[in-house]
Amino acid sequence: MEPTPLNPAQQEVLDLLGAAPDERPTFSPALRDALLADLEDGLADLGAELDPEDPLFVSKRALANVHGCELRHVVERGADFEWNATIARGSVAHKAIELSVHWRGEPDPLDMVDEALARLTDGTDSLAEWLRACAEADRAELRALANERVVTFFECFPPLKARWVPVTEGRQRASLLGGRVVLSGRTDLSLGRPVGSTAGKVIIDLKTGGFSPSHLDDLRFYALVETLRLGTPPRLLASYYLDSGRAHPEPVTEGLLHAAVARTVDGARLLHELEVGSREPQTRPGRTCRWCPALAGCGPGRAHLGDDDLDDRFDDD
Ligand code: SF4
Repeated sequence: MEPTPLNPAQQEVLDLLGAAPDERPTFSPALRDALLADLEDGLADLGAELDPEDPLFVSKRALANVHGCELRHVVERGADFEWNATIARGSVAHKAIELSVHWRGEPDPLDMVDEALARLTDGTDSLAEWLRACAEADRAELRALANERVVTFFECFPPLKARWVPVTEGRQRASLLGGRVVLSGRTDLSLGRPVGSTAGKVIIDLKTGGFSPSHLDDLRFYALVETLRLGTPPRLLASYYLDSGRAHPEPVTEGLLHAAVARTVDGARLLHELEVGSREPQTRPGRTCRWCPALAGCGPGRAHLGDDDLDDRFDDD
């Protein structure tokens, strides 16, 4: 049977993410230990204050939050996490994409979403609990949101072949200072794998909306944790904007990984100081103040957005 021709967006992804073996960079096997030593040196003085039984968890999201506005990070950290259709969309869509790789015949997006929902509902984690208990309307909204994401993905990406080693929601973890600090991540999609010290993996973050510089930092953190895991860094990082069908790629270099170490050390230190209360959270007003749960009581945020525009937002009636 003739393969279905690729549209230009799919061909662009194929051209961008693929690389001939002689185009793939090789890294020093000593890089992993050097990065680990830099991280542990940068955080060594926190070791005495941390307990391996209750480690400091450092994630992509925590780093982005704390390097954004510290006060917002503190407020959001104190709020209970609750699943909803918007938050669950990514997990369902990624599971559907994973199933589609091994599906016999042409996978239908909505069938994949329904299979994904069924499997995730049978799980043992908090998402499974929420799926079993959520209202029918929430489930229907989730089904629609996940379907839109999967359809968009199928439109933009070439059909993923099993030999490309696709992995969705890949978990990453690296321990520092005897388990006192844990770096953790979960990548949306990765393709390829290293061969010895030659890089071969591409890590992809699937995005809705537009480009933000923080998206680069997110992926650089993933590249760092991957290098701490395997010793060989990924070859390429790419934020993929599903709405526009465009990728923002960045090759991985030693310089990029050292920059990620510096940002991670700074962020981990901030997270710890805010956690134990030895630092007053700083405010950094910006575009996201508009959606901040602390906005009503935050003078700098209100001033940034313009009090006048906000007056009616906090009226009781
Ligand atoms: S309103 Fe803005 S400045 Fe204030 S806490 Fe929220 S994000 Fe920070």
